[in-house]
Amino acid sequence: MLTTEQKPLEQLLEYLDREKSVFLIGCRGCAEGCHTGGEQEVLDMKQRLEEAGKTITGTSLIDFMCNESLVRMTLQAHEDAILSAESLLALCCGIGVQATSSVVDKIVHPGCNTVSMGGRHGEWREGERCMECGDCVLEFTGGICPIARCSKMLLNGPCGGSSDGKCEVSPDVPCAWQLIIERLTKLGRLDKLERIVAPKDWSVSLMSGAASKR
Ligand code: SF4
Ligand code: SF4
Repeated sequence: MLTTEQKPLEQLLEYLDREKSVFLIGCRGCAEGCHTGGEQEVLDMKQRLEEAGKTITGTSLIDFMCNESLVRMTLQAHEDAILSAESLLALCCGIGVQATSSVVDKIVHPGCNTVSMGGRHGEWREGERCMECGDCVLEFTGGICPIARCSKMLLNGPCGGSSDGKCEVSPDVPCAWQLIIERLTKLGRLDKLERIVAPKDWSVSLMSGAASKR
């Protein structure tokens, strides 16, 4: 069970500040169990965003958003509604946001913070993509996690050691920051990187010992 908490509505409205239309996604897996992204929460979020003046072009519930193939297949049925939205809002764990970002060429806003994997991990087949940090930053990194995928867990840009797109610490893996910058460039949203990120507060993660183990 991946434990998630919904981000405050004020924060989500800041994410959606420039946008009028959004497609909403929930997860019938752990997020439904946590009451952060099941059917009821998607309906509640739809109502709250509409009250805030947003247009919801459509909604979808995916059985397990950590499964990239399932996300791709399910969202194909909503192609028109997704195309007509400026962005997507995902009520699920960090892995679900990343899986969705990998199959949709639009910004996918994280609607939740992942605070613990509860000892289990998602379905992503290329290794762990979420460190359960409790304050998800995928909003600013194009849906690519700098905590799980950058060897130095850098939050304010690359270290400068990347070579040919590979990480200087682990030359067999892509530099996460190269991927982030390429993704945000493609989406025309490099402005997402203009803010300075404060040092991470790991106390908001139920797995707060994780950072010290790296
Ligand atoms: S920023 Fe990364 S580690 Fe933190 S919740 Fe999001 S996906 Fe997980
Ligand atoms: S090369 Fe890229 S992935 Fe590796 S530590 Fe530096 S910024 Fe992080």
